[in-house]
Amino acid sequence: MKQDIGIYIHIPFCVSKCYYCNFVSYVNKEALIKEYIDALCMEILRNAEILSEYKISTVYFGGGTPSYIDSKYITQIMDTLNLFRKENDFLEVTIEANPNSITLEKLQDYKKCGINRISIGLQSTYDDILKIIGRKHTLEDFKNSLSLCKEANITNISIDLIYPLPNLTKDMFDETLNYVISLKDEYNIKHISVYNLEIHEGSRLEFLLNEGYVSIVDEDEEYQMKNLLDEKLEENGFLKYEISNYSLYGYESKHNINYWNQGKYLGFGVAASSFFSSTRYKNTDNIEEYIKNINSLNDIVVEKESLDLLDLMKEFVILKLRLKEGFKASEFKKFGKDIFDIFSNELNELKDLGLLNIESINNKDYNISLSKRGSEVANIVWEKFI
Ligand code: SF4
Repeated sequence: MKQDIGIYIHIPFCVSKCYYCNFVSYVNKEALIKEYIDALCMEILRNAEILSEYKISTVYFGGGTPSYIDSKYITQIMDTLNLFRKENDFLEVTIEANPNSITLEKLQDYKKCGINRISIGLQSTYDDILKIIGRKHTLEDFKNSLSLCKEANITNISIDLIYPLPNLTKDMFDETLNYVISLKDEYNIKHISVYNLEIHEGSRLEFLLNEGYVSIVDEDEEYQMKNLLDEKLEENGFLKYEISNYSLYGYESKHNINYWNQGKYLGFGVAASSFFSSTRYKNTDNIEEYIKNINSLNDIVVEKESLDLLDLMKEFVILKLRLKEGFKASEFKKFGKDIFDIFSNELNELKDLGLLNIESINNKDYNISLSKRGSEVANIVWEKFI
């Protein structure tokens, strides 16, 4: 039986740059779209040998804003990937979309080419906050995009939110959650990702905060927001299955679960990463260089890191602990080692600090997961294994 592999496709074009954004995305490079997509399809074909050997279980179009470009390009990429179709594959095919770039025609094309999940970047339900963070859509655009998804019969929708945000209070955040929850049945919202705002050095958002033009709640209120989030979403059927992700039962992101299970994946496009044969690869993040090197049959990989056994074991623990359920000690045996021999100090220390739960399963195995406190200070846990 062929092993599963996930595919990530990076579409780096955006209408404008959001003030907090640290992704590899470009504005005003629309003239390169066609050349870029042709190059990306070439990159897929360069990997034909690997793709023939594996079963593509998931595909994820991320960015950038994949919904910004003409849907014929998405179809072109899917047609290329479809050359490697086998039985029971392409279980989950997701595309990220911004509310103001979705149209009915695009959604219909997505469905036709096999996309079965849309992830919409809402981020906030407040137009003034969306403006502060440089988003170009409004709440009205979001509502409209959901109606279009309904019309196109898209039945698996994920929503992205961010917190804390400038000028967002806990009560306002509560309203946002109530609003999204109120739409879940009518619009097939099955999954919600809620990311913690990161303020990157040199970003416009950092400037606005430093100059006092906008402010963000203090740590106490942020902590209350986090608790509110966990309680409210769980009460309404969105089970927390990963540090930032909540879903209705059975609608966890299969693509991301493959990452957290240390599964194999190939990333195509500028700045895309891959993990294959215990090695991490990263493509150039210069789009001109990417296109040129693909066309001249040169390498586009700029970082290549082979992980040794200890690296793999550490990474396994860090990735698995992101999942709410954690992992079983017996799963670690795939490395031919006992986790309690390799990481006994780290595990005991974190358990004593109340950051890890280590629970016996019928005296035969152990389940290891982050405690509630551990998930609040996860970075301290990761540092132990780095
Ligand atoms: S839409 Fe996403 S990728 Fe594009 S600028 Fe905004 S945050 Fe960055």
